[in-house]
Amino acid sequence: MKYDYLVVGAGLFGAIFAYEANKAGKKVLVIDRRPHVGGNIYTEEVEGIQVHKYGAHIFHTSDKEVWDYIQQFAEFNRYTNCPVARYKDEMYNLPFNMNTFSKMWGIKTPEEAKEIIDRQIKEAGIKEPANLEEQAISLVGRDIYEKLIKGYTEKQWGKRASELPSFIIRRLPVRYVYDNNYFNDQYQGIPIGGYTQIIEKMLEGVEVRLGVDFFEDREILESEADHIVFTGMIDAFYDYCYGELEYRSLRFETETLDMENYQGNAVVNYTEYEIPYTRIIEHKHFEYGCQGGYGNTGTPAIQKTVITREYPAAWEKGAQPYYPMNDEKNNALYERYRELAEKEEHVIFGGRLGLYRYYDMHQVIAEALKCVKENLYG
Ligand code: FAD
Ligand code: UDP
Repeated sequence: MKYDYLVVGAGLFGAIFAYEANKAGKKVLVIDRRPHVGGNIYTEEVEGIQVHKYGAHIFHTSDKEVWDYIQQFAEFNRYTNCPVARYKDEMYNLPFNMNTFSKMWGIKTPEEAKEIIDRQIKEAGIKEPANLEEQAISLVGRDIYEKLIKGYTEKQWGKRASELPSFIIRRLPVRYVYDNNYFNDQYQGIPIGGYTQIIEKMLEGVEVRLGVDFFEDREILESEADHIVFTGMIDAFYDYCYGELEYRSLRFETETLDMENYQGNAVVNYTEYEIPYTRIIEHKHFEYGCQGGYGNTGTPAIQKTVITREYPAAWEKGAQPYYPMNDEKNNALYERYRELAEKEEHVIFGGRLGLYRYYDMHQVIAEALKCVKENLYG
């Protein structure tokens, strides 16, 4: 065997495993079918701006070990995600907080907001929320559900909100204070200089082959390594023997504009169903304090801006599987693949696709570190 580990996927999970294995003296080969490392957190510089190629990526965690771990590879800025929702010509702050409620109903106090939301919840008569629609109404009432959740959710997932699992909406905080921070976590920020440098540092001294699809050279690749760390789609690994898992895909349209400040915020969500994209991101605003629109900060503004429209898309074989569809049916199917995976002695599954979970970066790091402990030091 030429390698101790073949790591399939140069995303966050694969890169952490490769970094730690290399540090532990193992011989590692990393492959990725994309022409670059980083997976979905890949960023590239355009017009002096770090562009998040596969959608907005904001790092957030309450896990000190995870925060300390990632700090080894980059310095983070103090960006706090405060997306704005646009419904027709109305603008609302997210997540759902006193700013949202005040704009929606012209009220001022938490007591007034609670009264309206409680009344709407009561009118809906939902006892145990059984799906995303019922969960959303039970959290914020019908007005907010209709304007800010229903349209966005149904275009994002390509399904009716009443057919989706409720955990998806519980990702978002609901608060009765004037606080637009999208996350409740202790630590938050974006690496100064982008995410790609993090992965590049992790992969220093490791052999990496890009543009290589595991399935096209499977036999040769498998014969070269003792163990495989697989971060691609678990159903594809088993040749879809139990059937296909469902994913949701995306299409990104990026353009550079000759203006200093397009939308005044990094993320604007378009919550009505009729607009085909879910959000527009304006990348320069992720680089807190060194972009246009900040007036007298003393930092000269970049006179151009890069924006990306994010269109949800159906997933079919060959498309990028950005999101697992973690509903009951798919989770049950995944469980069958997981049982096969558990019997493997030489294959480890990891990451958002290998574990079929709607994981954010901090959760992927925690999983990768657990996997390192068990497999390299267990
Ligand atoms: P990936 O990044 O998907 O890496 C897997 C790699 O494996 C890919 O590079 C792929 O090309 C490669 N691969 C797959 N199959 C094969 C094969 N057969 N052969 C060779 N290579 C293969 N998280 C946050 O914490 N904050 C955010 O704000 C945030 N925003 C997000 C926005 C969007 C639009 C998306 C899609 C995700 C977002 N995430 C966010 C989640 C974050 O992207 C993931 O948690 C993280 O990137 C997962 O890393 P990974 O290594 O598991 O997977
Ligand atoms: N969501 C919504 N309206 C919004 C933003 C989010 O209804 O303006 C819902 C939608 O169902 C989405 C989920 O909340 O899929 C989770 O949102 P998040 O921003 O965490 O999604 P991600 O960034 O992972 O795509």
